[in-house]
Amino acid sequence: MTTDVTQRETATQSPPLPILSHWIDGRPVEVLPEQTGPVFNPATGKVIGRVPRGGAAEVDAAVRAARAAFPAWRDRPLIARSQVFFAFRELLWQRREEMAALITREHGKTYLDALAEVERGIETVEFACGLPVHLAGLNTPNVSTKVDAFTLRQPLGVAAGITPFNFPAMVPMWIYPIAIACGNTFILKPSSHTPGAVQLQAELWKDAGLPDGVFNVVYGGREAVKAIVEHPGVDAIQFVGSTAVGRYVYETGTKLGKRVGAYTSAKNAMVVLPDADMELAADSAVASGYGSAGERCMAQTLLIAVGDTGDRLRPLMLERIANLKVGPGMEPGVDMGPLYSAEHRTSVIQWIDKGIAEGAELVVDGRPFHHRENTDGFFLGVTLFDNVTTEMEIYNEEIFGPVLGMVRAKTYEEALSLVNSHKYANGTAIFTTDGGAARRFKLEVDVPMIGVNVPIPVPAGYLSFGGAKESAIGDLAMRGEDGIRFFTKQKMVTERWPEPGRRGALSLVFPGNS
Ligand code: NAD
Repeated sequence: MTTDVTQRETATQSPPLPILSHWIDGRPVEVLPEQTGPVFNPATGKVIGRVPRGGAAEVDAAVRAARAAFPAWRDRPLIARSQVFFAFRELLWQRREEMAALITREHGKTYLDALAEVERGIETVEFACGLPVHLAGLNTPNVSTKVDAFTLRQPLGVAAGITPFNFPAMVPMWIYPIAIACGNTFILKPSSHTPGAVQLQAELWKDAGLPDGVFNVVYGGREAVKAIVEHPGVDAIQFVGSTAVGRYVYETGTKLGKRVGAYTSAKNAMVVLPDADMELAADSAVASGYGSAGERCMAQTLLIAVGDTGDRLRPLMLERIANLKVGPGMEPGVDMGPLYSAEHRTSVIQWIDKGIAEGAELVVDGRPFHHRENTDGFFLGVTLFDNVTTEMEIYNEEIFGPVLGMVRAKTYEEALSLVNSHKYANGTAIFTTDGGAARRFKLEVDVPMIGVNVPIPVPAGYLSFGGAKESAIGDLAMRGEDGIRFFTKQKMVTERWPEPGRRGALSLVFPGNS
């Protein structure tokens, strides 16, 4: 913890702040204030609550509860499991505005953005409601004489999710509904920066009738993550967060025999061709680059302008940037809230300094904003660089703030090669009115999530979500079909039922198909 944080915390220590609880075996597990850390409201810079710092003991208690709950949950008839999901979905929908307000208070994003996040998360819960269909296997009668074949899917046991600060409701809801629908029990370790939405989700699971121990929450940081990754009672982990931590979780977890998927950092590029609708492209670049203060793993923070496109786009973007309203996320009409922490704001400012030092053209400078408008909240204005080039660190590395870099490319081929040679590959987009060019891009681009005239191509909640290269570690994506595969083991059954009283001849030949 930095001195800066300690001072702010001390200054706000009375009256007592609400303290969140771990959620283990269907009930809150309270902790002493000295076992907690601060939760900030980024719009005011004030501490608004305290979050437990769990470790090995809490993780072990959660794993024991999840293990104990597993056999009964696994064996519960599918429709009865699905009914709990329908009830949970209804409760989430009823309380979505409250959840969105909690997110804005802790994360800083605008209320409408937070509400959209909650609703996108609910889509995956709705997908999970259809679990009897998703868990169906294949059945092929008569693969050989009197022999039938079928596959069945079974849960793995205890699964865990480790999630980032930036989508406090949606990203957990991309993971645990699928794991639990498949019959696993679950431990969630959310980000300590934005814990409130998950606490509410735990309470709603209880109200929906989920048996105790099926869904557990342990708050904490590095220690709690280490305990999950190393615990022999955890069978599978999905991690969402930065590549460095994801690699540690993946490598340690898989070495210990767990199934692990890590969905990690990103630097996404949108390509704008000269024939694109320039108004749409300008709206999209500004919305994608600066929405949620650039703290989205699908934000397009590189804009690759082909031919003369850059010169035409730049004034249109400047017009839009001039009208952006930055302020507290609960204030109506605000387009962009603060960054989630003071330390992160400092890091983004350092990236802007670096971009200037590297020779990028600073067109709009977001750095002076917080001095002018707000001294306590973690605000920063938006930044636009032009003439960003491939050897610059601001081209290659994730900044995760409201900093957009325009790159000039002479041709479509050059733009494509830029996207395909980047180390990150989460999402990309092309803006064009030429269907043929869009078709080529979809086939040729080496990035799994693609938008055509859509800047944030997050697939619908019933589809899978996942990147490639440094943006994902592991073989399967989250959610959708891949999510079901990830959280189940498949069995292949070959079955013979001879007619009563008939025996075949003994043969030592490898079984054939006659
Ligand atoms: P982070 O890696 O700092 O934290 C993610 C999780 O890991 C949190 O629960 C955190 O408590 C824990 N953690 C942090 N440091 C740790 C350490 N040293 N050892 C063990 N555990 C640790 O990420 P963040 O800052 O919360 O989130 C932003 C990152 O997440 C960005 O890189 C963003 O691109 C990425 N992200 C990726 C996706 C995706 O689907 N690919 C989605 C959202 C966010």
